[in-house]
Amino acid sequence: MTDEDDIAERQMRFLFGLRSHGVTDKRTLSAMEKVDRGQFVTGTFAARAYDDVPLPIACGQTISQPSVVGLMTQALDVQPRDVVLEVGTGSGYQAAVLSHLARRVYTVDRHRRLVRDAVALFTRLDLRNVTALVADGSRGLPDQAPFDRILVTAAAEDPPGPLLAQLKIGGIMVLPVGQSDHVQSLIKVTRLEKGYDYQELRPVRFVPLVEGLGTD
Ligand code: SAH
Repeated sequence: MTDEDDIAERQMRFLFGLRSHGVTDKRTLSAMEKVDRGQFVTGTFAARAYDDVPLPIACGQTISQPSVVGLMTQALDVQPRDVVLEVGTGSGYQAAVLSHLARRVYTVDRHRRLVRDAVALFTRLDLRNVTALVADGSRGLPDQAPFDRILVTAAAEDPPGPLLAQLKIGGIMVLPVGQSDHVQSLIKVTRLEKGYDYQELRPVRFVPLVEGLGTD
């Protein structure tokens, strides 16, 4: 078998795995097909980049499980003209997937090192509509607000007030809520003309949303 056959087969298995976990939205699947998760996992765990598991990355953080990335992306229902905020850049994988669906993606992380590595990757992959910044995402990104969509990839006990406030009317936010050492719930928040609608999607497990910037 040639390398190309290997890659095609691996890709087929990856997409099949997503579908079997309930990721059925065509645009989400096509965006995920365009992003090679192998580029976002380095070192010891690189060999497992195509398995449906979360994996360790630098700064004691994790790259989320592909099926969870798919389900969150699908729930976010991103439209081509949308401006999206992601809180928790981590490896940059989720932001890269969003970059194929949105007009512009802002992604923030509290660890400088993660942002620096993600920026280098976005440049290498020529993803020009992603801006990665070092910031405490629990405060949102007031300079660029409001957002059509907000995706949080770290768990808070409750949806942070500044993020709710930075969502446009009609906008959607998807985030895990609950205590970090317990099972958390993935929820979808829609901003209505008056107030917010909350929908619980499924149990998940994420690293905690921590206030303030990291030391590395
Ligand atoms: N979306 C990532 C996975 C994120 S892991 C990916 O695709 O790889 C969660 C990330 O949230 C970690 O990198 C962590 O540093 C970051 N994080 C936690 N609290 C934060 C905060 N208050 N502001 C910004 N980033 C935060």
